[in-house]
Amino acid sequence: MIDDFRRNACPSLHAPMQTGDGLLVRMHMTEPCDPTDFAALCELAGQHGNGIMEVTNRGSLQFRGFGDASVAKFADDAISLKLPISIGVDVETGPFASMIARQLAKEIRRALAEEQLNLAPKLVIAVNDGSIGASADLSADIRVDLSIDKRWRIALGGTEESAHIVDFVEFNEVGSRVIGLCRQIAAHGPATRGRDLVIPTSPGLLKGPQLLKGENASVGLFSWGVDGEGSALGLRLSPTVQDARLFAQLCRTAAHHQGDLRFGGGKAVYFTGSRQHCTSLLEQAREFGFVIDSCDPRLAIAACAGAPACASAHYITKDLAETMAAEATPFLDGSVKLHLSGCEKRCGCRETRDFLLMGSPEELSLSLDGEMLATFSQADARREMAKLQRFVADRRQASETTRMTITRIGRAGLAAAFERN
Ligand code: SF4
Repeated sequence: MIDDFRRNACPSLHAPMQTGDGLLVRMHMTEPCDPTDFAALCELAGQHGNGIMEVTNRGSLQFRGFGDASVAKFADDAISLKLPISIGVDVETGPFASMIARQLAKEIRRALAEEQLNLAPKLVIAVNDGSIGASADLSADIRVDLSIDKRWRIALGGTEESAHIVDFVEFNEVGSRVIGLCRQIAAHGPATRGRDLVIPTSPGLLKGPQLLKGENASVGLFSWGVDGEGSALGLRLSPTVQDARLFAQLCRTAAHHQGDLRFGGGKAVYFTGSRQHCTSLLEQAREFGFVIDSCDPRLAIAACAGAPACASAHYITKDLAETMAAEATPFLDGSVKLHLSGCEKRCGCRETRDFLLMGSPEELSLSLDGEMLATFSQADARREMAKLQRFVADRRQASETTRMTITRIGRAGLAAAFERN
């Protein structure tokens, strides 16, 4: 059944992946969505899966908890909604990209669909016009970034900062250059990524024009568009509120007004509309428990599905996330993240930076920046994490962030927080 699904005539829903709570489906929206249609998708996720919805760091959607039969049904029903689900290679734009950037992305998608190249399944092409929330710091295999002289910089394998520069070209040359690079990548086999191509950069290109920098779009209300005439509400789902059906309710409220729904880098969700509409939607989002405040400590916590949703989990990640969010201010001040993973698989918490609390059959292990700090039982988790917070709070100097304090104390010093009294 899974193989059948992978060969599905519409590859817009990525091949489902087996996880501890069943099959996971990931999809990317290429354009702003109609909130009513998206509400229907969320209802389907609750009907066929376990109703857990996540937004990834790249702004893709994940729905979890499907079986072999239900995932195929979900895929069929989702396709029938006619949402702008990505087909084939991911060609990403920012959530507030201009018409020109969207058109460019569309042309690249169309050309790639005709070429049928055998490319790595995770290959990403980013078209970045410097618009709000464009996430220049997300890595891509091929980058197309707009410069201040209106030419587009073509680069390989990296973020806006780190990618290897190939050329600066005019708008009408972008498509052919990108497809040419894709052909070169495909010629080296389906495991090849953009960073693997060796193309020398001429020294002149390194002094090329600056790129347009997009503002970060935060959570809460903000203005966008020409002269800032548009309004939007930015929010996050939060580790404790990932209920697709609850999100569907918010979408249905949004559908009463003219506006749309967009997803962006950094797990961002945006509703657009009039200022009045976005303000009333913000109140409902707050009532439902979504994150609508940039100071919310939940922004610093990433938790996997955990027990009981996931059969592989060794602790209830969401409960601990809730406790930490309620009790851990100012520890979770945004300068460090806390990743809560129910088992060693670490779904959604791949980074080795920051704090990671990982479950195993015997105990929970807490590491910092990839190095072990302490181990303790599940029953002691809340008490031990509270000890860590108090330890850091007692040593925090004026105007220090948590990251600054723990860097000054050092990992060995921090381990003293867990010494038995
Ligand atoms: S990391 Fe979490 S969601 Fe993933 S398999 Fe382990 S317990 Fe399940």
